[in-house]
Amino acid sequence: MRCRGCDYELWNMKPGTCPECGRPWTFDDFRFFPRMAQFLCPHCEHAYAGTDERGLPVPRAFICAGCQNPIDLAQMRALPVPGSDGNLAMGDEHAWSERARLGRWRAFWRMVGQSMFSPSRTGSSLPHEPRFWSAVLFSILCASLGIVICAFPFVILIGFGSGQLSSGWQYALELVASFGAFALGVALAGQLGFLLWGAVTHAILCLTGEVRRPLRHTLCATLYCSGAFAISAVPCCGIYVCVISVVWMAVSMISAIAVLQKSSIARTALAVLVPPAVAILLLAASIVWAVSSAKPFIPAVFKPVPIVAPAQDASPATSTDDETPAQENERSQAGNRPSPDTRESP
Ligand SMILES: [Zn+2]
Ligand SMILES: [Zn+2]
Repeated sequence: MRCRGCDYELWNMKPGTCPECGRPWTFDDFRFFPRMAQFLCPHCEHAYAGTDERGLPVPRAFICAGCQNPIDLAQMRALPVPGSDGNLAMGDEHAWSERARLGRWRAFWRMVGQSMFSPSRTGSSLPHEPRFWSAVLFSILCASLGIVICAFPFVILIGFGSGQLSSGWQYALELVASFGAFALGVALAGQLGFLLWGAVTHAILCLTGEVRRPLRHTLCATLYCSGAFAISAVPCCGIYVCVISVVWMAVSMISAIAVLQKSSIARTALAVLVPPAVAILLLAASIVWAVSSAKPFIPAVFKPVPIVAPAQDASPATSTDDETPAQENERSQAGNRPSPDTRESP
């Protein structure tokens, strides 16, 4: 159990501030494997095992069985159970929340790996009080990384294709700056989509049963599941890989949110999959609507030319390209009456 700020060892200390760097800490900042840490009464050193899912004693405040004094977890010191190593007592760490200690680069890639390959740990290790903007930053980094690496070859091509790269650094810098702004804009728009997805998922979970943790926690878990977008960092192919990333993210979300909210996999899958399913249906419906409502406005020149039918089958309503507008006009005035030359003789 080490300080998040400076890595100072915090075993056998009362919660408070780190003696090395002054950072405040409580036992709720950590996860212990159940029954792997014990907590000592501040009066008589009677040891209590941490038995709940976070490896902490339940309840948090009680009367000591050894000395009959009222005691609280915030007054107690923690030790690994006798004969075990302190490191073995510690449960999953949430890499991105510990980036100050691990280093940003290592924490980022560890979080991406966890997000993609063990998403249930993304849910179980989510801090007691997750920081919303920290999750947004992680998700923006994943999305921007994918977009920048995917599109960079195109930028080089545009640069050389325009033949202006030789005109100096100013043009190259302008090109890279506008490309960077585009990538960031797309990444930010993506975050709005993820947040909407997380919010609707949380709403469906609320409607279908009990939830353990509030909306902000579901949103943070959703954002931490976007690690799959870092794999769309495939030059040129990212647009196609992006579809895989969305599916991967949905699978990660089901696993992470089920653990986080202690909901069944089926219920979580329903909550996670309904928003994208509705979005796809709405998109399909709007495309159909746009196509069908645009039909009357297609100019005549774009109308498919009908295959010229054999003469005996030609009905009066069929018009051919050979007709002049005047002939067409005549025909429309004639209405549905068959024209004399096509009427069959009795
Ligand atoms: Zn410290
Ligand atoms: Zn006691």
